[in-house]
Amino acid sequence: MKRHAASLAEVRSVYAELAARPIQRNCLRRTECCQFQRTGKIPQLTRGEALLAAQAFRASGRKFPSLRKDGACPMLQNETGKCLIYESRPFGCRTHFCQAAGGPIGRQEVLPLIRRLEKVDAELGGDGPHPLPQSITQALREL
Ligand code: SF4
Repeated sequence: MKRHAASLAEVRSVYAELAARPIQRNCLRRTECCQFQRTGKIPQLTRGEALLAAQAFRASGRKFPSLRKDGACPMLQNETGKCLIYESRPFGCRTHFCQAAGGPIGRQEVLPLIRRLEKVDAELGGDGPHPLPQSITQALREL
C-alpha cells in the first residue's frame, strides 16, 4: 500500500477539508443510513476511498467482511452495530441523505472535493465510483 501513500493522503485531506467546512452536520452514528436494503441507497466509492476504507478494515484485524443477511453495510459490525471504519468512512457516508444528520449536502457545495476524489480515482486506474460493498471487497483483494 506504500505505492498508494500519496493518493490515500489526498483522500484523507479531502475528508479533513470537508470536516473543517462550516456545513452544519450532526452525525450521531445512528447508522440508519448504513441500512442499505431498508433505505435503497448505497454510497458509491471512488478507488481511493475504497482503498482507504479497505485499509481501515484490515487495521481492525479482520480479513474479509461477513455477508450481512439484513442487507446493511458490510462495514457495520454485527456485535456492536457500529461502523468498523468510521474515521475512514467514505465521502458519501459524510455527505449523504441522512435527515437526522442535517440532510444531504448539495453536490455543488462539495464539487471541488468530488473532483479531487475523481482525480485520485483516475490516477489509481479507477473507472469511476462503484457501490460500497463491491468497491471495498475489490480493494481488499489488492491489499
Ligand atoms: S462505511 Fe460505515 S458509515 Fe458508511 S455506510 Fe458503512 S457502516 Fe455506515
